[in-house]
Amino acid sequence: MFEKIKPPEEGEKIRYEDGKLIVPDNPIIPYIEGDGIGVDVVPAALMVLDAAAEKIGKEIVWFEIYAGEKAYKLYGEYLPKDTLNAIREFRVALKGPLTTPVGGGYRSLNVTIRQVLDLYACVRPVYYLKGVPSPLKNPEKVNLVIFRETTEDVYAGIEWPRGSKEALKIIEFLRKEFGIEVREDSGIGLKPISEFATKRIVRLAIRYALENERRVVTLMHKGNIMKYTEGAFREWGYEVAKEFGDKVITEEELWEKYDGEVPYGKVVINDRIADNMFQQLLTRTDEYDVIVTPNLNGDYISDMAAGLVGGLGIAPGSNIREDMGVFEPVHGSAPKYAGQNKVNPTAEILSGALMFEFLGWKEGAEMIKKAVEMTIQQKIVTYDLHRHIGGTLVGTREFAQAVVENLQSL
Ligand code: NAP
Repeated sequence: MFEKIKPPEEGEKIRYEDGKLIVPDNPIIPYIEGDGIGVDVVPAALMVLDAAAEKIGKEIVWFEIYAGEKAYKLYGEYLPKDTLNAIREFRVALKGPLTTPVGGGYRSLNVTIRQVLDLYACVRPVYYLKGVPSPLKNPEKVNLVIFRETTEDVYAGIEWPRGSKEALKIIEFLRKEFGIEVREDSGIGLKPISEFATKRIVRLAIRYALENERRVVTLMHKGNIMKYTEGAFREWGYEVAKEFGDKVITEEELWEKYDGEVPYGKVVINDRIADNMFQQLLTRTDEYDVIVTPNLNGDYISDMAAGLVGGLGIAPGSNIREDMGVFEPVHGSAPKYAGQNKVNPTAEILSGALMFEFLGWKEGAEMIKKAVEMTIQQKIVTYDLHRHIGGTLVGTREFAQAVVENLQSL
C-alpha cells in the first residue's frame, strides 16, 4: 500500500462508521514534521501530546510521513502519494508548517493537501490564554471558533496570467457573448461558490455550535457587492439553518420570543458583512462566537483574530471534514529560525489539543490548554512572548518540558 513508509506494527486504526469516528485507546496517528521550524515545534508538541495521552489512559502510536523538503530528499517530490494515502487510511494527522514559494514554483502544499483530501473546513479556535500580551483592553472577551470554507472562492486556483491564451479567450468570450469589456492586459481569476460546499460547511458549524454549547453562528460575507457568490452563501446558510428545526433561531426570534437571551440548547444564526465584521470584532468582541465564512474572508479574519490574542506563535488550526482531519498551527515555517530551538511551540501544541477534541478526548484537550496557560503565567516563555512580558527565557524544547511538568501536576 505504501512505497517508502511502513506503518507501525503496534497501535490500531481510527475508523469511521455510521457517521461516527471510532477511536481506539492506542490510535496510529501520522505526523508531518514539515519545513523550517517544523523540526523544532513538532517534536516539542509530540512530547506534550504523549504526556497528555498518558494522563487520560491512552497511547498515541506516531507514524512519520513526509511532505516538503524532507519528502523531496526521500521521494524526489514534495507531496508524495504515500503521504496522502496515509492520511486517508489513518484519518487523523498532525502537521508542521510547509514552505511555499511566492509568485511561482510549486503550488502551496497546504492548499493541495486540503483540496486533494477534500478537507473543506479550516477550523480555528481563537481564545485568550492568561498572561499572553494582547493589544486589547479585555482580551478575555475573545472566544471564537472560525469555520473557513477551503475548497472554493478565489482560492480554487482557477486563474490565468495576463496575455495567456486562456485569459484572452475569456476576455473575448465576455465581450462577444455578454458585451462585457475587460481590459486586454488583465490577469483573470474565477470565484466559484456553490450551494453544496456552502451548505456542508454551515451545517458543520451549526452542528459544532450545538454540540459545544455555543450561542451564535454568524455568516460572514460580502454579499452586498458579490451577490451571487457571497450573497448566495448567506442565503444558503439560512436555508441550512432551517434543517435544524427549532434548535436554531434567527436574530428576530431571539428578540421577539426570548427577550435577547439565547435559550439553553439553541443557537442563534445571524449574518454580518465582512468589512463590518472586522471592526465589530474589535468593538463588540464578545458578541461573536462561531463564524462561518467563504475562503478569502476566512483567511483574513483568522489571522486578524489570532492577532487579538497574542499572534501567530500561539494560534492553532485544523483542516477537517466529518471523517478526517489534519491539525496544524496557523503560522508558517519561519525559515530564519529553523533548527535553533528558539520559537514558540504553543501553536503546534494547541493544534494537538484540537486533534484531541476531534478524537473525542476532551478531558485531555482541556489539560493541554491548562498546562500551556500555567506555563505562560509562570512566565516561562520563548523569545516572542519574552520580548513583551519578560520572565524566564527558554527554548522550544524547554518550554515543552515545562508544559509537560505542569500537565503532570494536574
Ligand atoms: P511565518 O513562517 O508564520 O513567520 C512570520 C513571523 O511570525 C516570524 O518571523 C515570527 O515573527 C512569527 N512566528 C511564526 N511562527 C512562530 C513561532 N512558532 N514562534 C514565534 N514566532 C513565530 O510566515 P512567513 O514568514 O510569511 O512564511 C514562511 C513560509 O511559511 C512561507 O513559505 C509560507 O508560505 C509558509 N506558510 C505555511 C503555512 C502552513 O504550513 N500552514 C502557513 C503560513 C505560511 P518574528 O520574526 O517577528 O519574531
